[in-house]
Amino acid sequence: MQGDEKIEVSLPGGNHYRIILGSGVLDEIPSLTASMLDRKNVLIITDDNVNALYGEKALKSLQPLAANTSLISIKPGEASKTLATVEMLYHEALKSNLDRSSAIIALGGGVVGDIAGFVAATFMRGIDLIQIPTTLLAMVDSSVGGKTGVDLPEGKNLVGAFWQPRKVLIDPDALKTLPDREIRCGLAETIKYGMVLDEVFFAFLEDKISELNSLDILTYTEVIKRCCQIKADVVCRDEKEKSGLRSALNYGHTFAHAIEKATGYDKLNHGEAVAVGMCMAANLAVDDGRLDDAAELRQENLLRQLHLPCSVEFLTPEHIYDAMGKDKKIIEGKLRFVLPETIGEFSLSEVSDKDMILDAIRNCCD
Ligand code: ADP
Ligand code: ZN
Repeated sequence: MQGDEKIEVSLPGGNHYRIILGSGVLDEIPSLTASMLDRKNVLIITDDNVNALYGEKALKSLQPLAANTSLISIKPGEASKTLATVEMLYHEALKSNLDRSSAIIALGGGVVGDIAGFVAATFMRGIDLIQIPTTLLAMVDSSVGGKTGVDLPEGKNLVGAFWQPRKVLIDPDALKTLPDREIRCGLAETIKYGMVLDEVFFAFLEDKISELNSLDILTYTEVIKRCCQIKADVVCRDEKEKSGLRSALNYGHTFAHAIEKATGYDKLNHGEAVAVGMCMAANLAVDDGRLDDAAELRQENLLRQLHLPCSVEFLTPEHIYDAMGKDKKIIEGKLRFVLPETIGEFSLSEVSDKDMILDAIRNCCD
């Protein structure tokens, strides 16, 4: 394994785990998990696409180590993130003889990580979880921080639990098989970190446009490392989103969730909606006198150069505004936004001026 990096995540409650990042990590699963999985029953949860690429190898490599290793593959995509899938997985876990001392491995993107994490959090009141994220979005965001859950017909992520993994293994080489659109989706979340939390990292992204667009794995390794460090730091200081710091990770997301909902979740993927959502939030911050035009333009340029959208078609501002009504981030009827003050700094603001919000949205509607 070349140049592996270790990022320590130490939560205030005493929970401690390590993120291991490096090319070739996927070939080293047994040695990296031996102390945890030795002679235990292990269930790998993955999806059909990831299974075809990496499932068999992971399963075979763990068989000599664990007492019994099984693999279950679900249909790819958000539509699988339901309680019905969770129940099916509980039955599979029982069939595979999982008990309180067993472990679940989530091998896949954010969808697999969220569902498998929720199953690990709740099966027998909680068993060990190892996250092996294979999409950029999961590597930089969803696999770190312990949020797990599923969707209800009424909305996304409405049922869930905080459940920290015992270990996160990240192999950036897995990005080589990921469709380009999914890479862009993850890049939107990386821009989010820079824009509200880390100006130096934002400038790094601006400097590495061509490497990012040509999928230079060394550059991606650095990007993933920085994002995991930033996220680990945020989660350690505000694990359960109580102090407001963790809310920074929702930058652009109040708008993004509304866009996803209003478009029926099939026109834009999550990262594309986040890209447009960040443009709307930056507009709002400029209109509110917080952010200067130059900073807003830097964000827009970076998004465009990484081929992410800055506007949506087919939706009216009212349509998007109405869809914001169901967001979890609404506190006592007021819309709460993460707004950048400058690149790398943010504040949390309750905005009640509907026209101002509509104007911010309108600027991003084609
Ligand atoms: P996200 O991580 O963005 O939340 P998903 O978990 O739905 O999204 O993954 C996005 C898509 O990419 C799914 O179809 C999934 O099967 C596929 N996928 C995940 N990892 C890889 C990979 N390394 N190579 C190819 N396809 C992958
Ligand atoms: Zn997101």
